[in-house]
Amino acid sequence: MKAFSYERAGTPAQAAAAALKPGAKLIAGGTNLLDLMKLQIETPAHLVDINRLGLDTIETLSNGGLRIGAMVRNSDLAADARVRRDYAVLSRALLAGASGQLRNKATTGGNLLQRTRCYYFYDTSKPCNKRQPGAGCAAMQGYNRIHAIVGTSDQCIATHPSDMAVAMRVLDAEIETVSATGNRRVIPIADFHRLPGDMPHVETSLMPGEMITSVTLPPPVPGRHVYRKVRDRASYAFALVSVAAIVDSSGGRIRSARMAFGGLAHKPWRVEAAETALAGASADEASWSRTADAVLAGARGFGHNDFKIPLLRRTLAAAANEAVSA
Ligand SMILES: Cc1cc2nc3c(=O)[nH]c(=O)nc-3n(C[C@H](O)[C@H](O)[C@H](O)COP(=O)(O)OP(=O)(O)OC[C@H]3O[C@@H](n4cnc5c(N)ncnc54)[C@H](O)[C@@H]3O)c2cc1C
Ligand code: SF4
Repeated sequence: MKAFSYERAGTPAQAAAAALKPGAKLIAGGTNLLDLMKLQIETPAHLVDINRLGLDTIETLSNGGLRIGAMVRNSDLAADARVRRDYAVLSRALLAGASGQLRNKATTGGNLLQRTRCYYFYDTSKPCNKRQPGAGCAAMQGYNRIHAIVGTSDQCIATHPSDMAVAMRVLDAEIETVSATGNRRVIPIADFHRLPGDMPHVETSLMPGEMITSVTLPPPVPGRHVYRKVRDRASYAFALVSVAAIVDSSGGRIRSARMAFGGLAHKPWRVEAAETALAGASADEASWSRTADAVLAGARGFGHNDFKIPLLRRTLAAAANEAVSA
């Protein structure tokens, strides 16, 4: 690990201002950043600790929604009675991620900003456009079993690894931020994570130094919540494919449905037109198959990850059937 200096920020605006210093980086739970520093993939010269800013509460909003502080730990968020009752998909997605010990440290803000798990991003002997713009992408012709099948570019085929972000996408969460000048901004989660395009090293719409202060959830929507994650091990493994679904149905008919997907793309994947087409449709295999067609429009495998296309179809159907079962 390279040497770095350290400071503890006093307020969110001070943290954002300190994060603008050359080579500075915010540190929350440190469960991703410290691993990247040990491998010298990230080499910050200065760490700004945001653990004592008081951003660790979950507040009920007057509209019935929730405001989740950026420093709320993944374990605390998953266990919150309001989250378990009204946003069960979020609680389930969180509990499907990492391990108990990691969730005790990992934070809401840090989880949204965790980096990809692409093997070549972690291997500094291999070319990676995300690590070093213009270097090339070792995954394209390499072992790309965990990689993306939609929204890819010829620069990068990495996926976003977060389970929590997939649930937040289906819930239409909004990210609240503060900049170094104290300006505040609200970013819909749909616009927060980027596709790789020709700048895979730019992963979100955050500006330099901009800090996440909280995430808000709109009032709960009707329907049964399901989070289904397919992975290589039952714990401590990232999603090959995951589905976050909220389906409101009765008597075999769908009133409304929302679905977001992990393991498919550089960002949580959602195709709202497919959800609109489900409203009023029968809750049956033909409907799930049409939804999968829309979700997978333009999908392509890169060899080792070809299996994700049929896997997504099966996982979507299984999650949807679970969501409409009595
Ligand atoms: C073995 C292992 C298995 C895992 N499995 C899973 C899994 O199955 N599913 C899953 O979703 N995750 C998994 N994770 C990832 C884990 O969830 C993340 O490491 C964690 O959520 C990151 O949160 P943190 O607070 O520790 O972030 P940190 O490591 O502190 O920070 C991560 C990044 O976010 C930035 N940052 C942090 N907070 C803010 C803020 N408020 N504003 C602006 N920038 C900020 C930091 O500068 C840094 O760049 C796993 C991790 C490990 C090590
Ligand atoms: S897929 Fe993206 S992260 Fe992985 S090697 Fe290619 S450029 Fe790097």
